[in-house]
Amino acid sequence: MAAPAMESLAVTALRSVMLRVQQATERSGRNADQIRVVAVSKTKPVSLIRQVYDAGHRCFGENYVQELVEKAPQLPDDIEWRFIGRLQSNKVKMLLSKSGVEPSGCVELAKHVKLGCPNLEFSGLMTIGMLDYSSTPENFETLSNCRIEVCKALGIAEEQCELSMGMSGDFEQAIEMGSTNVRIGSTIFGPREYPKKQAN
Ligand SMILES: *Cc1c(COP(=O)(O)O)cnc(C)c1O
Repeated sequence: MAAPAMESLAVTALRSVMLRVQQATERSGRNADQIRVVAVSKTKPVSLIRQVYDAGHRCFGENYVQELVEKAPQLPDDIEWRFIGRLQSNKVKMLLSKSGVEPSGCVELAKHVKLGCPNLEFSGLMTIGMLDYSSTPENFETLSNCRIEVCKALGIAEEQCELSMGMSGDFEQAIEMGSTNVRIGSTIFGPREYPKKQAN
């Protein structure tokens, strides 16, 4: 009898992440279907993404347009791709900033998107906590407060404004602080390797 195929590291890691997400979700008093887990596959090969897809995951995130347009056609089309990078097109010149604003500018930016950009749909706010995690709770609290202000200014319910916060090192904390969307890369796919010259 053949031994069962060994599960790939990425699939094992995915299952562990999903369990941790579920537990954090329960601690936050919400349901697992209220949290989206974006598997961030930037720099990772299609074969590895395919393993995670075959394990049942459907939502993947990429940071670079070029990578996304190369990989997406090689993978099943029921994948929900999320672009989480900075927009580089000149077409976003009208935005106050293409890579984010200070918290004090969030209301103005959200209003501009909602009222002044007919081809954009305002769906929520995203942050990346400090990379050394020194002020993660403050960063997440700041984004939550931004949501309160933005929703008040736009006259929308808080459920209509997503909070995208939480990555490999802090996703459980983010969920406990109200995140609706976590973006998890290296904990699922392993550490990323960048070509030496790239500063990223
Ligand atoms: C790369 C990236 C992630 C994933 O980071 P990990 O620490 O590997 O989980 C999440 N969000 C954004 C915006 C990213 O660029």
